Amino acid sequence: MRVDLITIFPEYFSPLKLSLFGKAQEAGLVEVKIHDLRSFTIDKHKTVDDAPYGGGPGMVMSAVVWGEAIDAVLKQAKTKPVLVVPTPSGNVFNQEMAIKLASFDHLVFINGRYEGIDSRVVEHYQQSGEFSDVIEVSIGDYVLAGGEVAALVILEATSRLINGVIGNEDSVTDDSFAPGEMQNLLEGPIYTRPPSWQGLDVPEVLLSGDHAKIAQWRKDEALKRTRKFRPELQA
Ligand code: SAM
Repeated sequence: MRVDLITIFPEYFSPLKLSLFGKAQEAGLVEVKIHDLRSFTIDKHKTVDDAPYGGGPGMVMSAVVWGEAIDAVLKQAKTKPVLVVPTPSGNVFNQEMAIKLASFDHLVFINGRYEGIDSRVVEHYQQSGEFSDVIEVSIGDYVLAGGEVAALVILEATSRLINGVIGNEDSVTDDSFAPGEMQNLLEGPIYTRPPSWQGLDVPEVLLSGDHAKIAQWRKDEALKRTRKFRPELQA
């Protein structure tokens, strides 16, 4: 997969060099290009924003500058990419969306700041046909200062679903929200050695070696936890 990230804070994406995502790049499974939006400005102050039409507080990011940056990325694209637009007013991100994003060859993230990006940017690229899809996505019902953290969240959830990124594929299929048995379930409690710690013992069944019983126990515990924390998933 190829990922292009356009931002006024390229340094925000330095965590992508770490852990699974970093290894995925080293292994050639993911290629990342980070673009500084200010390098597409034409004035000497490198302005990326302007006052909102209609008045109100804050500044709006310029469609002109975003258009220049996005068109430059499109020129380098080998296949039609998907445009991902982090915004609190988009569809709320979930595992199903992560699975969908992991199936694409090329994602382009445009990361807003201030009051956000001039709405004509999304409108234009929805109409232009240069992207195979334009996805406006929120990572939750709260407002961040910029799209970079949201893009990191989306990329972390998406990249671990790309074939070969995680060594043991089972750890993905056993996760909370994974398609199949875990679709509407949260994972139950998990333990490792020692068998006893601070007076707390690992449940006997997990030491029994009886795989059928262990599977049933895990299912029951997942259900208990889901009913406690996310009852609406079982509704
Ligand atoms: N005025 C916008 C609104 O009320 O919807 C909020 C703009 S926010 C301060 C600046 C940028 O942060 C947004 O353009 C978006 O890129 C990002 N952002 C903020 N909250 C987000 C969220 N919950 N999910 C995804 N991106 C978010």
